[in-house]
Amino acid sequence: MRLKFKFCKLVFVLLLAPGVQAATCTYQTWDWDSVQRKAVNIRKVSKPKSELTREELGDVPGCSVCEEDQVELRLPQLAPFKVCKSYESKVRRAIESALNEGFPISNVVGYRVGKTKGPLSPTGQRTQFSNHSFGVAIDINSEKNGLYDHCIQFGPHCKLIRGGDYRPGAPGSIEKSSSVYRAMKDEGLKWGGEIQGKQKDFMHFSPTGM
Ligand SMILES: [Zn+2]
Repeated sequence: MRLKFKFCKLVFVLLLAPGVQAATCTYQTWDWDSVQRKAVNIRKVSKPKSELTREELGDVPGCSVCEEDQVELRLPQLAPFKVCKSYESKVRRAIESALNEGFPISNVVGYRVGKTKGPLSPTGQRTQFSNHSFGVAIDINSEKNGLYDHCIQFGPHCKLIRGGDYRPGAPGSIEKSSSVYRAMKDEGLKWGGEIQGKQKDFMHFSPTGM
């Protein structure tokens, strides 16, 4: 009887142990400093998943800032990148479809935690996580599809703030007529090149385009 109890206890511990491990959240983050124009407050976070805050959980269920919610996507001729597990098949289908239709893709960035959005703190740092922080945004060919400010409509007055010059018509630059645009749209991802407002992020796709 006593032996049986010990056995049951052992089984219980073995079953529970992986669950305990999976319930931890780890990530590295930083804040964008608009004065120094660089990442500051670089820090590693490790905490029980049950203690995640609203901002760490994000808007898409199952896609928090945690490494544990992400999966590495490997595609031929591309460096591996991470996205949220529930976005893996969407992103894979879209990129494979674009490549099959001849759209050249040289680099993709997905999951990357950092506060690059939202209002500035009194000392000039951004205060909100980007959509990349949750693995639900991807950047494609950033060297040819820059992020611009002061850009209600794209033109010479727009100010490039990240990535390379956007030259519509050049191979690898994203336009509404590009197969990558259509493939992403088919998967429910909006393009940062056609969002309302002052910024145009030509490399960027996410559920909101932001
Ligand atoms: Zn982006």
